[in-house]
Amino acid sequence: MISPPTMERRFLFIGILTLKTALHIGGSWTVGSPSDSPVIRTPDGLPFIPGSSFKGAFRSAVEKLALAAGLASCALLEGQGCIGAQGKEQDDFNRWRRDSSTGDANYRDKLDQNLCDTCKLFGSPYAASRIYFADLLPPEEDRFAASMIQVRDGVAIDRDSERAVDRLKYDYEVVATAQTFQVTIRLEGPTNNDLALACLGLKEYTSGFGHIGGKRSRGLGACRIDDLKVFVFDLMDATIEERGRRLQKYLLGKTPAEKLTLVPDAQTFLDEKIRTLPIFQGSHYA
Ligand SMILES: [Zn+2]
Repeated sequence: MISPPTMERRFLFIGILTLKTALHIGGSWTVGSPSDSPVIRTPDGLPFIPGSSFKGAFRSAVEKLALAAGLASCALLEGQGCIGAQGKEQDDFNRWRRDSSTGDANYRDKLDQNLCDTCKLFGSPYAASRIYFADLLPPEEDRFAASMIQVRDGVAIDRDSERAVDRLKYDYEVVATAQTFQVTIRLEGPTNNDLALACLGLKEYTSGFGHIGGKRSRGLGACRIDDLKVFVFDLMDATIEERGRRLQKYLLGKTPAEKLTLVPDAQTFLDEKIRTLPIFQGSHYA
């Protein structure tokens, strides 16, 4: 029998993303910009970072570290033993699913065994993501719209010769260095591995090793997350009385601070969770 979903754990990460270099995320909806390659804007003309773009960049950062940390990550490549990536493993699994008459429990076990740790956290064709990224908007106090978008000149490259094409210049827009954006990342019902992987990604971004957007070969899109705040709602490690207290606080509160518990020191929190990864457990290299 399948039990109904319950909310046992939720984590909220809020911070400010600051651009260390200019940023280019192209968009088709651009309020009549004359540029050949405009940046994506809100209907009000503000540059923003779609949550899906940030999720993609954050996922790559985590995938690069997951294997080293002792967890599995297919990086969405075929042949890594994960059905989250397109290819033979996914085809074989789809065939098994079509032909088998086994119940839901069996299906879930099979998913658990055949999805890598990063596909479990970030989602796959079979199971929803457990991490959510809101669109990143400039904070109210940082909306000096006139200077936030700049135009740069590029040179068109001939695809066959890979040489610059004479007189074929184009321009592209960037969001200027030092522009800030509000970050909101939510974890819903994560396992301890999910939480540790999310903290691994956050550690990269708070250390200034984050990237986002396109044209990275031109040095664009380096960024850092500052002022990270971590809010926790966790019934898993609580006594019955404490569960009741936390639930009441959650149900009656309006803001994240009222509903969830603010962690005293975000960096200490990240480090504690990262230390739960297999690489920090004694047996990993045994
Ligand atoms: Zn995978």
